[in-house]
Amino acid sequence: MDQIYDVLIVGGGSAATSAAMTLRNRGKTIAVVTNRPETSSLYKAEKITNYPGLPPMTGAEMSALFRRQLEDTGAFIIEGRTISVLPMEDSFGVAVGSDYYMARSIIITAGITREKLYPGEAEFLGRGVSYCATCDGMLYRGKTVAVVGGGEEARKDADFLEGIGCRVLRFEKNGKYEISGGVKADTLTFAGEAHQVDCVFIIKDTVSLTQLVPGLTYENGGIVVDRHMATAVPGVFAAGDCTGKPLQLAKAVGEGNVAALSACDWLDRK
Ligand SMILES: Cc1cc2nc3c(=O)[nH]c(=O)nc-3n(C[C@H](O)[C@H](O)[C@H](O)COP(=O)(O)OP(=O)(O)OC[C@H]3O[C@@H](n4cnc5c(N)ncnc54)[C@H](O)[C@@H]3O)c2cc1C
Repeated sequence: MDQIYDVLIVGGGSAATSAAMTLRNRGKTIAVVTNRPETSSLYKAEKITNYPGLPPMTGAEMSALFRRQLEDTGAFIIEGRTISVLPMEDSFGVAVGSDYYMARSIIITAGITREKLYPGEAEFLGRGVSYCATCDGMLYRGKTVAVVGGGEEARKDADFLEGIGCRVLRFEKNGKYEISGGVKADTLTFAGEAHQVDCVFIIKDTVSLTQLVPGLTYENGGIVVDRHMATAVPGVFAAGDCTGKPLQLAKAVGEGNVAALSACDWLDRK
């Protein structure tokens, strides 16, 4: 955590690639925290026929082109899920699992998440709800915890928690989960059945944008930005699907470019 990057980009899809290319041209140091390319909207597109300069191709093919370009920028690419971005006096602290990175400005390009918060998730976050087994697991040694999530990361986290002596209840199915409790969360209800637990570890690919950065504002599900892609938090910019409709590749790429130039201005003014 010695290095402070000029810009840290959350998400590594098309908006991020565009932003990173422009930041590289302006000589900025960049870190990109991103889930696997298969999680992006672009990867899921059957065929893209409306992107200038390229022939029609599948989303997966185009996603591979974007990924190569992202790598070519020389950005430090961190495979993982950003859990939180915390504004500090002159920089931002970014938590990725149990690792921590610092940057002078942030560009959010997290796409859209269709996953809704579970009832109780936001209310009990930090009080019996956690997004990170490595960070909080030790607090629940010898206790009963639930791991909600079906992916590889959830499986690894469940194994880790078992390894440090937790009694682990696994919940891999999608469905209606509800977390309840008093001062702390103590119950996870799924499919009508209540389970007594000391902590619920929720391991999804994405973190709800409302949880990611305190102080952002939202309209119609998108982060509110101005023409410079600046958000309500000074030094934080956003681009792509996460700023709202239209959900289109060309818009994501254009916004990534504007966000990068605005981040450069912000850094230069400081
Ligand atoms: C089925 C389908 C078909 C489409 N067809 C077209 C089309 O024909 N033409 C067109 O123009 N557009 C199309 N789109 C839309 C286009 O794919 C999106 O507009 C574009 O991919 C948005 O880019 P983005 O960078 O904003 O988000 P994404 O491409 O979704 O990338 C965001 C990335 O950030 C990651 N991420 C999110 N949260 C975190 C976190 N907390 N930490 C780390 N990483 C995180 C995500 O996992 C993802 O990898 C289609 C979309 C879909 C789903």
